[in-house]
This record gives sequence, C-alpha cells and structure tokens, in this order.
Amino acid sequence: MRPLRRAARGAELLCACDVPHCTASTCAGKVCFVSKSREQGHVTRSRGCFSRHLLENCRGPVMEHFGTRCCNASMCNARLDVYLQGEEVPAAEPALPRLLLPIVVPLLALALLAALAALFACKLAQHRRSAARSRAGDADLALKASLVGDSTLEDLLNDDCTTGSGSGLPFLVQRTVARQIALVECVGKGRYGEVWRGVWHGESVAVKIFSSRDEQSWFRETEIYNTVLLRHDNILGFIASDMTSRNSSTQLWLITHYHEHGSLYDYLQRTALDSAACLALASSIICGLVHLHVEIFGTQGKPAIAHRDLKSRNILVKSNQQCCIADLGLAVMHSQGSDYLDMGHNPRVGTKRYMAPEVLSEQIRTDCFESYKKTDIWAYGLVLWEIARRTAVNGIVEEYRPPFFDAVPSDPSFEDMRKVVCVDQQTPVVPNRLYSNAVLAVLARVMKECWYQSPSARLTALRIKKTLKKLGQALEKPKQDE
Ligand code: ADP
Ligand code: MG
Repeated sequence: MRPLRRAARGAELLCACDVPHCTASTCAGKVCFVSKSREQGHVTRSRGCFSRHLLENCRGPVMEHFGTRCCNASMCNARLDVYLQGEEVPAAEPALPRLLLPIVVPLLALALLAALAALFACKLAQHRRSAARSRAGDADLALKASLVGDSTLEDLLNDDCTTGSGSGLPFLVQRTVARQIALVECVGKGRYGEVWRGVWHGESVAVKIFSSRDEQSWFRETEIYNTVLLRHDNILGFIASDMTSRNSSTQLWLITHYHEHGSLYDYLQRTALDSAACLALASSIICGLVHLHVEIFGTQGKPAIAHRDLKSRNILVKSNQQCCIADLGLAVMHSQGSDYLDMGHNPRVGTKRYMAPEVLSEQIRTDCFESYKKTDIWAYGLVLWEIARRTAVNGIVEEYRPPFFDAVPSDPSFEDMRKVVCVDQQTPVVPNRLYSNAVLAVLARVMKECWYQSPSARLTALRIKKTLKKLGQALEKPKQDE
C-alpha cells in the first residue's frame, strides 16, 4: 500500500489558506486558488486548496463565475489576485530596468511596424471570420436560452449537447435553472442545513440549502457530480448546484430530483413492508452502492467512490419503491490507473451510530481506498437490519428503531459507540422471526456478514448484489411456473 500513500500525499502542494475550514494558515491540495465574491458591494477574498478533480474546473466557467483563479506551485496563491467585473486592475509595476530601455524601445517600434503590416494584410480575412463567429455565437445563445426556456428537466439532462463530462448540465444552464426555482415548502432539516421542495417550470425539485458551516460538503458534492458521470437509477439524480449571495451571506444550493416519499428513515417510520418490498428496497440500495464502488474505465467511465455516510436518512425512496443513495458530501474517490486517492477536504465525519469498529477504534487504514468501501458495507448491514425489522412475517412486525437503539442514548457520543461496537463488540439483535421466511433468512445472513469486526472478512457490495439478485429470481420463478 506504500505507493498509494506516496501518490496521495506526495503530489500535494502547500497553499495559503484563509477559508473558514482551514485550521492553520496553509492547506495541502492538488492546486491552490484565490477566489473573490461581491456581497452587497463588499468584496471578500479567500484563498485555499482544491483537490484533483477541480483542476479542470479552474479553467472552466464554474471558476470564472466564482471569480476564482488557480495556480499550481507551492504557496503560489499567497500573492495571486483575481479581479471581479468592474473592479479596477492595478497597473503593472515598471518591470524594465532603465539600462535596457535604449535597446528595448527601438525593438518594440520595429515589432509594432511589422505587426501593423501584418494587421493590414489580414484585416479583410479577420473581418469575415469575426462576422461568421458572431453569427454562430448568436445561434448558440439562442439555443441555450430556448433549451432552458422550453424544456423539461428530463429533456435538458438527457440531451447529449448539454451534458458535459460530469453528470449535470453545463454550468450556465445550472445557474439559470437554479435561479428560476420557487421554493415551496421545507421538507427536512438535516445536521447541516435544510431541504426544500421547489418548483421549476411546474416540476418539483429538491433544493438542499447548506449552512455555511458545511460549505465543504456542498463543495465536495458539487465537485463529484460535475466531474464524474454518475447517472444511475439508484443514485440521487443531480440537476444543478448554485452559489448566491443573499443578505450578506453566501447561500449554497444543491438541486436534485425530488422524491415525495422522503428518506428511507422517514418511509420506515410509517410503512410496514412485506418480504418482496423489503427485497426490492435492499436490492436497489446495493445496486446503487455497487455503482458507486466500482471503477469504470473508458470515456464513459468513473472512478471508484466510497460514500462514507451511508444511513437510512441518506437514502431516498422513489415512487417505484426503489431507493436511491444521496449525500455525497463525504465521499472519497480512487482511480486505479493513477493510484490516486482523492479524499476531498471535508472536516465533517460520518454519522457516529453507523461508524464501523475500525473507524471508532481509529485503526482504519486511512491511506487505503478499500478500507472506506468496507465501512460502507458495515453501514449497509445496519440499513438492512432497519428494513428487515419493518418487514412482516406471519403478521408480526417491529416498530422502527435506529441501529443500537437499545445500547446507546439518542445522540450517542463517539465514546458511547466505541464502547458498544469495539469494546463489547456488539452487533444489532437479529429478530428470530426472520429465519422463518426464505427471503428474510438470507437477508439476516447477509447483514451478519457485513458486521465482521475484521473489515476484510465482510462481504463486498458486488457479492451482496449477486446474492440478492438470485434471491429475487428464485421468488419470481414460482410465479412464472403458476
Ligand atoms: P441528513 O443530514 O439527516 O442526512 P439531509 O439534509 O440530507 O439530512 O436531508 C434531510 C431530509 O430532507 C431527509 O431526511 C429527507 O426527509 C428530506 N430530503 C432530502 N433530500 C430529498 C429529496 N431529494 N427529495 C425529497 N426529500 C428529501
Ligand atoms: Mg444527508
């Protein structure tokens, strides 16, 4: 695993940092940035680091919009500046020493004459070219405006011309969509912000409004969705990300598909399941997790991603009774080719209740990507347990309870969890009644195999997916035979 550590850390730069999440005056990243924003006439400047995947964005419209410039040398952002529209750019300092002036001035005059001659010769051709370009530009703008004006979200997101390298719309279209949304009702409050139902051209969308305390989660999620092709039935569909200034504070929005059933946590409170529904939920979550975990090669590829905060509140239930995985604010990415582990720069940690023993004992191999996949599997086992308890067998079903409800208080501390999970090595009690149902008996076995203390002994997402698929086919068969 030594090369991985070298690749992950060795390539990092030291940058000046004054954004709120920087504990020191420097940070380490793949690229340094300086960024400016104007709020009610007041200009604020911040400096910091970006991780690898923003390198492309440093040059793109995303960064232009934020008034951001990047550079890639150690501490290069300490003196670098960026100028917002309308801001006065200071005149460059006189750079030439006086002695060089007698040589440089005649040379410049000669160069000017040559340039004038060339300019004259090219004038006609240039004029023709610029006329052609302006016609094309008008057509392009008209196309963009009409796209946003008349289309449904589905049209916009599926259009080959509008989708970029990530899973979303081009940045300008994202911003236009975001600013045309009317917020309708607050549907949830999370640890770090609120989720609203909004309406865009008559369609419901979900708007997650991040508190400024959690700007790094917004940043990370925006980064992942904009650089990785992440369209999958079982991953929450991304529409747009937007940053605006309102009442002298920065508002960070993440706009996604809206699912009226809300989170799996909400859904399980009020819904008892039968074994087919239970299997459908469990299978769809593992399909989403396999898609995250797998690295896909080629132009339509994606890096491997570990979620790091999988829990029933971060899973949404769709109207077809399948689930999709949400909240990529803590995710880490890995590409085998470059052996690069992209941890992001989020100081947030996962949810304590769902933390695997190696996270709680702080023995996790933080430089090894596989370790993070194993913590997702631990959490998946807990989610499976939550679903299975709400599944009726012979008319018996339990009330919804969160994992370890009988072992720790309602907002458990790290220490509470460590005692239960590492010291006492407890795992949730699997109800006996599950063993009298063919589907639930398999699910009970799967969850137990997600809860080995040793991460390497746990099942992989792909193995679980295959097991559940077989189980689904076995259930289908008798129906077909009838
Ligand atoms: P948490 O911090 O608990 O993970 P979130 O901020 O992610 O919470 O979401 C809070 C709540 O908002 C969720 O539990 C869910 O009820 C609701 N919610 C989040 N995203 C959506 C969505 N896309 N569609 C519908 N409801 C959502
Ligand atoms: Mg969440």
